[in-house]
Amino acid sequence: MKNYLTASISASAIRHNVGVLRKHVGDGVELCLVVKDDCYGHGMNVLYPLLAELVDGFAVASPVEALELRQKGYHGFVLCFLSAYFDDFEVQDELVWQEITQTVMSKSALASIQEAARRVGKTAPVHLKVDTGMGRMGIPAKQAPDLIEAIRACPDVRLTGIYTHFATADEQDRSEVFEQLTLFKSILPPDGNLVCHAANSAAIIDFPETHFNMVRPGLAVYGCHPSEFLSNDIGLKPCMSVKAKLIAVKHVREGSHCGYGLSHTFDRDSRVGIVPIGYGDGYFRCLSGKAIVRVNGQDAPVCGRVSMDQMTVDVTDIPDVQVGDDVEIISSDSSAPNSVENLARLAGTIPYEITCHLGHNIIRHVLVD
Ligand SMILES: *Cc1c(COP(=O)(O)O)cnc(C)c1O
Repeated sequence: MKNYLTASISASAIRHNVGVLRKHVGDGVELCLVVKDDCYGHGMNVLYPLLAELVDGFAVASPVEALELRQKGYHGFVLCFLSAYFDDFEVQDELVWQEITQTVMSKSALASIQEAARRVGKTAPVHLKVDTGMGRMGIPAKQAPDLIEAIRACPDVRLTGIYTHFATADEQDRSEVFEQLTLFKSILPPDGNLVCHAANSAAIIDFPETHFNMVRPGLAVYGCHPSEFLSNDIGLKPCMSVKAKLIAVKHVREGSHCGYGLSHTFDRDSRVGIVPIGYGDGYFRCLSGKAIVRVNGQDAPVCGRVSMDQMTVDVTDIPDVQVGDDVEIISSDSSAPNSVENLARLAGTIPYEITCHLGHNIIRHVLVD
């Protein structure tokens, strides 16, 4: 069956973004692509073959996501940010068996991994996560040397890397980045065999001193800018456009209303298009009356409230609008009013949330362009 909602991901844009990131970080720095939450909503199933050939490894949030990459046939480096539950022995064993690099941030998590490695009969690779100020996952920096020693004392666990994460790399005031960086550097063990990494997209773009020998870009690979406060422009290209088709067009009289709460009143005789997308598909309800879509290349304001499965757009000023016409919900032009970045701004959120929320009704496909 055909679906009216499609997300097209441009293969050439993804290649371009990986290319500019590689050039920006230079030789000798590995690119570990963050693909958590279904590639930030872009769709792992369709993107996997393309991404697998472009990057040096993947990072995911959950153990399930890590194991899914193995099921897809990926044999390379996979880093899992979050730990398996302490009593979930099945997943703990599978992570070791599948040679997923696990994150360690405490002695109790270390003990679980050591136990699993012994049960499975394999050595478990781990990266130590250090909290240098973000206050989330990670061992407080002061206690890191002690945990490093504990990892090295485990017969079946091997410390292969160490990392941290910045809290303010994409904020207006980014002074904390340098404090976190200094603290991170101060606890790095002297031997040079560890993979060290700290940089997310914003830090990669603006702070070369955070690159070490691996970086963890997420959003930048999909072509969006993590925030408006970045100083460098490395020329990313947004990879995704989301389209729908008009399923109805109707004429309404001046003074009539539309949508829940009758929040919109037409101040002239108008034409309204019905678009089959709503907040159930991840089109934020708070964009009601604020955002535009593009019908036949021209701006059509979203009028009235966005419903779960549909919304109304004002097409009065667009000539010859017909049922079946293309509606561009999200543009892959970052300067367009319906770009991911601009929709995020209108919705009072970040670009990440706009793409992650795109629902399963939207059929993803890769444009080989
Ligand atoms: C999500 C995440 C990243 C990627 O962040 P972007 O801003 O998308 O580049 C990197 N590291 C960690 C620990 C993350 O959770």
